[in-house]
Amino acid sequence: MPVKSVAIIGAGIAGLTAALSFARHGIRCDILERAEQIEEIGAGLQISPNAARILSKLDVLAQIEAQWLEPETVDLVSGLSLKRLVSLPMRDVARGRWCAPYGVLHRSTLQGALLAAVRQNPLCRLHLGKQLDVVDKATIAAMTLQEHDLIVGADGVWSSARYAVAGSPKATFSGNIAWRFTIGQNDIPDFLRRHSVTAFLGPSAHLVAYPLAETGGFNIVAIATGANPGDTWKAEAQGKQHALLMSQFRHWNPVFADMLQNIAKPTFWPLFQAGEGRWHNGSDTVLIGDAAHAMMPFAAQGAAMAIEDAFELAAFVTGDRALADALASFEAHRTPRVEKARKRAALNRFAYHARGPLRLGRDMLLSVRPPEAFLADFDWLYGYRAEGL
Ligand SMILES: Cc1cc2nc3c(=O)[nH]c(=O)nc-3n(C[C@H](O)[C@H](O)[C@H](O)COP(=O)(O)OP(=O)(O)OC[C@H]3O[C@@H](n4cnc5c(N)ncnc54)[C@H](O)[C@@H]3O)c2cc1C
Repeated sequence: MPVKSVAIIGAGIAGLTAALSFARHGIRCDILERAEQIEEIGAGLQISPNAARILSKLDVLAQIEAQWLEPETVDLVSGLSLKRLVSLPMRDVARGRWCAPYGVLHRSTLQGALLAAVRQNPLCRLHLGKQLDVVDKATIAAMTLQEHDLIVGADGVWSSARYAVAGSPKATFSGNIAWRFTIGQNDIPDFLRRHSVTAFLGPSAHLVAYPLAETGGFNIVAIATGANPGDTWKAEAQGKQHALLMSQFRHWNPVFADMLQNIAKPTFWPLFQAGEGRWHNGSDTVLIGDAAHAMMPFAAQGAAMAIEDAFELAAFVTGDRALADALASFEAHRTPRVEKARKRAALNRFAYHARGPLRLGRDMLLSVRPPEAFLADFDWLYGYRAEGL
């Protein structure tokens, strides 16, 4: 029986992309979001060509391209000496080699563009202030006054929809904390390059900096080991947490302490990841995005994988297959790719946070490896053609 109507839990990147992807196939969607209004949350995002290609197909890329910045290079730099270890040309290479752009933007710019497209689409209905603690068809029908053939759990790393899928992945604390903050355009330190994404690498920590065209300022993410403050996506990093941030960078080049001691409103994000497990219940419920596979941000692919999931799920359930078979095929198709992205993130984590002799070896290897070899490493990831494109 073809899917005619879908309930989506969560209006994050995965949920909104899923709604637009289903609507392309003429499928009606109700999106249930617990927030009373969609807030600006989450600082910056890098959007790689594999995700940009899908956003273009969904007619939202033009709107975000008008607001984002395509970095000229992606650089790896020593956090101790500030020596540039690698500088990969990105702006022209992305469009030429992977046939889609690579951009950096505020998360709210992407969410806002998706939201505007959803609001304009007559097949999509957004319900704000709807928190689902129990995810089943009867509860959703009572909230939306609508029956649904399929439930999509796109409710993020602490998903409630997971409880509707036996054997689903569990979220566990990774042992790493991310501090996220922005710097205003008048406070940008000289050591940050204004047209590049730069990852500064140091012992047991790294710090990623990139410009935000929306504000003229910079987005900064610093990741280091730390304790779990509980299931929160965002906490103000005042007092103790700010002192912890300063202590993580005390052996780095002094320019970092100068920058970090003056930042306004840093936020503190415990990094959770979801391990292996089933993504669907064998009949009518499926998980996508962070609900299915929250991963560490070391490869900047969490949102990109959520976008791919959403788009491909719509393609899988609109074929001739029975829904249960379509969900099983979707999971079998997506898990190897997500696993490869996760392994890539784990490798980056190991390399970025290396200490002692490992760090020296890493720096030497990065300095002598030709940029073409690094770019070729991204072909499988950025050159990906999603099902249905
Ligand atoms: C420090 C950091 C840096 C990152 N950088 C990048 C990057 O550069 N590039 C990239 O691709 N990814 C990046 N990511 C990952 C990316 O942010 C996430 O993978 C992505 O936002 C996941 O999207 P999602 O829609 O699955 O979940 P979310 O964005 O968490 O959305 C879930 C939605 O569901 C709603 N919800 C939750 N529970 C319920 C409920 N019970 N009922 C109703 N609604 C509910 C929430 O309010 C929310 O709106 C980064 C992550 C971190 C932490």
